[in-house]
Amino acid sequence: MVASSVLGFPRIGANREIKKVVEAYWAGKTNAEEVTKVAAEVKKLNWTELKQRGVTHIPSGDFSLYDHVLDHSAAFNAIPKRYHGLGLSPLDTYFAMARGRQADGVDVPAGEMKKWFDSNYHFLVPELDDTVEFKLNFNKPLEEFKEAQALGITTRPVVLGPITYLALSKATKEAKADFEPISLLPKLLPVYKQLLSELKAAGAEWVQVDEPILVTDKGASFETQYGSAYPELVAVAPKLLLTTFYGRLESNVNFLAKLPIAGLHIDLDRAPDQLDKTISAISSTPIILSLGVVSGRSVWKTDFAAAIKLVQKAISALGQDRVIVATSSTILHIPVTLASENKLTEEQKDWFSFALEKASEVATIAAVVSGSQDAAVAAALEANHTSIAKRRDFEKNSDDSVRKRVSSITPDQYERKSPFAVRLEAQKVLNLPKFPTTTIGSFPQTKEIRQARAKLGKNELSEAEYEEFIKKEIESAVRFQEKIGLDLLVHGEPERNDMVQYFGERLSGFVFTQNAWVQSYGSRYVRPPIIVSDVSRKEPMTVRWSEYAQSLTNKPMKGMLTGPVTILNWSFPRVDISRELQAQQLALALRDEVCDLEAAGIKAIQVDEPALREGLPLRRADWDSYLNWAGNTFKLSTAGVGDHTQTHSHFCYSDFDDIFPQIQRLDADVISIEASKSDMKLINTFKHYGYSNNIGPGVYDVHSPRVPGDVEIQERIKSMLAYLDQTLLYVNPDCGLKTRGWKETEASLVNLVQAARWARENYA
Ligand SMILES: [Zn+2]
Repeated sequence: MVASSVLGFPRIGANREIKKVVEAYWAGKTNAEEVTKVAAEVKKLNWTELKQRGVTHIPSGDFSLYDHVLDHSAAFNAIPKRYHGLGLSPLDTYFAMARGRQADGVDVPAGEMKKWFDSNYHFLVPELDDTVEFKLNFNKPLEEFKEAQALGITTRPVVLGPITYLALSKATKEAKADFEPISLLPKLLPVYKQLLSELKAAGAEWVQVDEPILVTDKGASFETQYGSAYPELVAVAPKLLLTTFYGRLESNVNFLAKLPIAGLHIDLDRAPDQLDKTISAISSTPIILSLGVVSGRSVWKTDFAAAIKLVQKAISALGQDRVIVATSSTILHIPVTLASENKLTEEQKDWFSFALEKASEVATIAAVVSGSQDAAVAAALEANHTSIAKRRDFEKNSDDSVRKRVSSITPDQYERKSPFAVRLEAQKVLNLPKFPTTTIGSFPQTKEIRQARAKLGKNELSEAEYEEFIKKEIESAVRFQEKIGLDLLVHGEPERNDMVQYFGERLSGFVFTQNAWVQSYGSRYVRPPIIVSDVSRKEPMTVRWSEYAQSLTNKPMKGMLTGPVTILNWSFPRVDISRELQAQQLALALRDEVCDLEAAGIKAIQVDEPALREGLPLRRADWDSYLNWAGNTFKLSTAGVGDHTQTHSHFCYSDFDDIFPQIQRLDADVISIEASKSDMKLINTFKHYGYSNNIGPGVYDVHSPRVPGDVEIQERIKSMLAYLDQTLLYVNPDCGLKTRGWKETEASLVNLVQAARWARENYA
């Protein structure tokens, strides 16, 4: 019998139980025991469901209250000094590292968050230097292994591999100049050995060790470390399954095949072509091959016929005992279950497969290739065949007018009419002072706003009543900004549930779910829409709100849109046509919206591309092609306006070294970027390359409820001005404020305006 496996499961709960309980804990409304209890219930349900669906290798240890990388840092005692001696419980120290803490005389910022590989999941970057004293504070995989064992379920514990853990880490500010986190490997290995040997003693047969760094270009540089570390680990551990996912191993497979590991997992969803090479690399070894044929990243049903073909190939080369059918990666990237969706049509439901359904898929494929004669397996195979055929039929219905418009895009549609210097003059009509202050667009999504939206959904509020409510919210946001003295205003986006969902709901070609949440970071979950057919705009989507907001004030109002690449990257895309074609369709729809905003008297229009970088392929060889079409679609969406209209864009990250020329090529009049959590390295990048347009590096971190003082913001501005032209600097927070409360928002923005005033006086 061929084994089946799921590499990791959503840890949010089918009804977002974890979000609810940790947020209640943060608010002081519940205690740590309750958090543990709810977590145990969620884990139990996950394990039980996977077992019932016939999965043979069930993950444990992959659960997290916030982030699994942070779990490792906490377990390994890699706790930065600023969190020491605060008198906090281990759980509160953990949450302080995750989100900062400002209470009872304690004031510490959160750690840096980064996107996890090419996904929209964020992890907490471990901070290390030579002084770190690694030790095993607790053995989370062991605890969860035992927890499952007590329920009669044997699991395969999951740990993040030591080399990937160190490769994702950064040096602390105190570290020596030439310090590289990977140099700590010899110091870290004893901790892994202890962790693994305890699992072995507890009876674990397998342990899954995730080493996704191996699918990046960086992976090859760790060949020596893999060669030295894994033999040591294998000597004390249960059978080790080294997993790689999100991309292709390329030549790394050659040194991996020489390791004494029991199993190797490869991603055949992202890189089906690597199967042959992997088989030949391991065929003369005893290594078991785990085949990621069921996508952990896509919500579309697996085409069983195609998956089975790949698995059969491996079986004929290696034999049944040396093959595991698996999800391509952890499936934390997809929603828990299709069973919670009541509003999708039967036809639509038949296209998709969420986490629990994917679990059934791996089990079914494993049964089929094992030669199962079970009638239920045969029926599942037949049903899949029918579903896939129906979807293929549906895909034939393309929108001819959209396809035609895309194929007749001309090069001049990508470019603004005049160069930046000319536009800068024309944009004096906005009448902005030096160091203009602005925000990224969203204001706190309060309980009242969410309630009004929910009431509208349940018809407890009429469209007209809802509209009145939103208008009042916009008016109060405008008055607030006028009162505290911001220069370039926003309407606050009370009408938007989400920066992608809102647009998806107004465009043709998307479907929406009711409960299909996925974790973005911590307790922040998103519900990505699904692109199912060609995309077009039915009517203006945002114009009347921006127009209304502008009518309330003499200050300029920014129109706010989400860019084509971000809508694409934060949706579940189609898999039957290219991402480029989907982005072009989105860009044309947005171009019409941008031009309509301009015609309605909006002088500044922001098209956000926070997800541009996360879409970057993991292998550099694939970058140019992605950056070329991604950049072009942004330009296509914004370049239709006159010189006097100021275009803005926003990026939620700070790694620009790699993609700087592309950011310049976008030619937005103003960009705002995340900068508060990373040091000035980012700003240095802009100086180094000589960025020519306006720029607003975030002056404080909005992902934490902490309020920055005005002097702290002054210091940031001062250090930025050491690198940037003072005539081009904008002053803004580093991201939208929708997840914040009003109290900290007001206090922070008052300090921000104060600091900009200080800058005007001191840099006259
Ligand atoms: Zn942002």
